Amino acid sequence: MEFADKKLDGSRIAAEIRDEVSAEVAILTKRGVIPRLDAVLVGEDPASKVYVGSKAKTLATLGMISETHHLREDASQAELETLIDRLNADSEVDGILVQLPLPGTIDAAEIFGRIDPVRDVDGFHPENVGLLQQGRPRMVPCTPTGIMEMLRREEIEIKGRRAVVVGRSDIVGKPMAMLLLHAHATVTICHSRTRDLAEVTGQAEILIAAVGVRSLIGPEHVADGAVVVDVGMHRVTDLETVERLYPGNEKKLAAFEKRGAVLAGDVDYTRVAPKAGRITPVPGGVGPLTIAMLTANTVKAAKLRRGL
Ligand code: NAP
Repeated sequence: MEFADKKLDGSRIAAEIRDEVSAEVAILTKRGVIPRLDAVLVGEDPASKVYVGSKAKTLATLGMISETHHLREDASQAELETLIDRLNADSEVDGILVQLPLPGTIDAAEIFGRIDPVRDVDGFHPENVGLLQQGRPRMVPCTPTGIMEMLRREEIEIKGRRAVVVGRSDIVGKPMAMLLLHAHATVTICHSRTRDLAEVTGQAEILIAAVGVRSLIGPEHVADGAVVVDVGMHRVTDLETVERLYPGNEKKLAAFEKRGAVLAGDVDYTRVAPKAGRITPVPGGVGPLTIAMLTANTVKAAKLRRGL
């Protein structure tokens, strides 16, 4: 079943955001400013290559410039830092993105702290993290801002509601919790040491799952009518799991047959959707919003740098 009436359609909302970004790019271009994003990719991780490629393609379709700098897997900290310094010094570069994960030999925090904070389109620089914490957001990580945009556009009330974020990563969980807090939700953050997870998440009127564990969130974790946002992204490559996760779902089976894999989230969609009030699917939920917000952040950086 699709639960179409409950679906929070990230793909549709992302398309709306891209249209708005495209219109802004057209205005900037007329003024001689074509926003440019430089992405840094280290190593050969296939998923990272796909992500960087699809980000570059999306930017290009919206009329922006995108460059990718590909370093070897064994690139040193110093090499990466030299590249960041070079991009910081390049007046043509509006946004700088370093694709995660970085090889274990690289100190990622050091790298993110080195990016010019105004061009830090991922919002990972300590200055941007601090501004968000103070309620003065500048560059904010793309996934949580995308989720907030979706909640706003779908007119989902946040103020005064109980929100639970499962996951406390710097990229998703923590900034998500902070944005919800600033929007006046009562926020609880859960993580791997949380006792009685289902008891805590069962209180949520808005539940954000950013756990990185496939199908962890089942109906026992979700209150009737809750808004459920699934950040997780996992490739499922065996038929048995696909049949178990999506029993009788011909569309999923056809997708699996065609591509040899389907994407699943941190939420067990088939069992949770009947209970949820609204729910994001995977794919077609948070993923497209993340890329759309990257395009918006690139335009924002281009304007900020020029005081526009
Ligand atoms: P992460 O850095 O691995 O963080 C996962 C968080 O979940 C950690 O805080 C961890 O707790 C917590 N956790 C792990 N197992 C748990 C459990 N059994 N019960 C409760 N909490 C648990 O992951 P992330 O970068 O935030 O990403 C989360 C998921 O979102 C991944 O599937 C990732 O692929 C996906 N993602 C998707 C997008 C998108 O655009 N759709 C963007 C970013 C990430 P501890 O802190 O205690 O270890």
